[in-house]
Amino acid sequence: MNQEIRVRFAPSPTGPLHIGGVRTALYNYLFAKKSGGKFILRIEDTDQARFVPGAEDYIVRSLHWLGLEFDESPDKGGAFAPYRQSERKDIYQKYADYLLEKNKAYIAFDTPEELDNKRAEFESKGLTFKYDSKTRDEMINSTTLSSGEVSQKLAQGDPYVIRMKIPEKQDIHLNDIIRGDIMVNSQSIDDKVLFKSDGWPTYHLANVVDDYLMKITHVIRGEEWIPSAPLHVLLYDFLGWNSNMPAFAHIPLILKPSGKGKLSKRDGVAGGFPVFPLDWEDPASSEILSGYKETGYFPAAVPNILALLGWNPGTEKEIFSLEELSEEFSLERVGKSGAKFDPEKAKWFNHQYMQLQNIEELSISFNEILLEKGIIKTIDYVTKVVELVRERATFMSELWDQSWFFFEAPESFNEKIVKKRWKENSPEILNQLSSEIRKIDDFTSTMIEEKVKQLVEQKELGFGALMNIFRLCLVGSAMGPHLFDIAELIGKKETLDRIEKAVSTISQ
Ligand code: GLU
Repeated sequence: MNQEIRVRFAPSPTGPLHIGGVRTALYNYLFAKKSGGKFILRIEDTDQARFVPGAEDYIVRSLHWLGLEFDESPDKGGAFAPYRQSERKDIYQKYADYLLEKNKAYIAFDTPEELDNKRAEFESKGLTFKYDSKTRDEMINSTTLSSGEVSQKLAQGDPYVIRMKIPEKQDIHLNDIIRGDIMVNSQSIDDKVLFKSDGWPTYHLANVVDDYLMKITHVIRGEEWIPSAPLHVLLYDFLGWNSNMPAFAHIPLILKPSGKGKLSKRDGVAGGFPVFPLDWEDPASSEILSGYKETGYFPAAVPNILALLGWNPGTEKEIFSLEELSEEFSLERVGKSGAKFDPEKAKWFNHQYMQLQNIEELSISFNEILLEKGIIKTIDYVTKVVELVRERATFMSELWDQSWFFFEAPESFNEKIVKKRWKENSPEILNQLSSEIRKIDDFTSTMIEEKVKQLVEQKELGFGALMNIFRLCLVGSAMGPHLFDIAELIGKKETLDRIEKAVSTISQ
């Protein structure tokens, strides 16, 4: 039997989830769904100093909004619960002890001041201090102290950390699905802290232990974790878990629109586009960072936008539902180089999704906006309006901007258009138009159009010129969909009233 694919999204609740993180979650989700595997949420909250209240809830709400449902999570539970590292504290100690016992880790008593002094001493010689096989001997730890001294220090409660004993020179290989063989020599790695003096494991230890215990088969995460990966490979080795090591795939960064550097929250603020899935109010500064949801993005558009930032389907196809992505996604088609974020392209996707929305659902949502404005119309009417204007809108909020004249008469008339289009004989032409309109019994777009054309022919008027002033009457400017459709929907009486109002207002 093939091994079940199990992947995890393992965010630290240190703030809102950036779209780069959302994309990591998405790639994990797609990879799991494609193979009928499991998608797991694990909250990595062992760094108490960086914990931000509300961040976990934000992560869960964001992914839920996007339809990325977990199979196992802190809320859902599962066979490997708990899924919050803060609730797994006791588990990690055992593995740290095992590493100490196997001489793969050691206890270090150096105080922060002693470490600072060491750094300063190195700096004064133009060197950079690194706690490793070369300097370990000069430090205060269980490799330099006698076992009696160590026991004494522990007994008197001296603070300590547990450090990993990185071998002096060893090539560490990592076979990354996206990047191929990554080789790092252990010389470049320092003796990383695995357990902190506050009794909490560091990210490295907790992450590897949990991936092992949760039977994770593939670690799919951002490329910023590549430097940590050799350390993790070594930890698997030290813990005797080589044959259970997951496969690794490090996905490329999402870059600024300029392509220079990683997309940051500041780029979003400066460029007026969201880089977070939902609005986030910073608990410290009260600054509000805008979200895709509140900006008016459809939840289905966002995974589509993000999937294509890094993954190449190998065809010209650009619109993919989550189901289609789940079928077609593969890590082999994820590129190595960073993907530039294009805010205009993101909008283009949303515009496409606006056209793809189920018309009933879209009309119901728009009706809610109308009700908030105190406008009450039948859903049938609202649906017809939405059908006419949605191709002009990218976001829900733009539906109103594109259609308000279906619900209320213009209060004013665009001066520029009036200046350009309104002629001395305009009132006379419009009066003739009104009398023709009065004669129409079957007030449909085609009938109105026919009448207008007849009038144009009989009176030898310019069709375009008549249309321009007619539009000015109904809409107040030069915007809007097919004019006869507007007239049909607002109805005969309203059409006549608006012509009359325009004639009396503009001719004053
Ligand atoms: N807790 C890490 C983060 O915040 C997880 C990295 C990983 O997936 O290993 O992204």
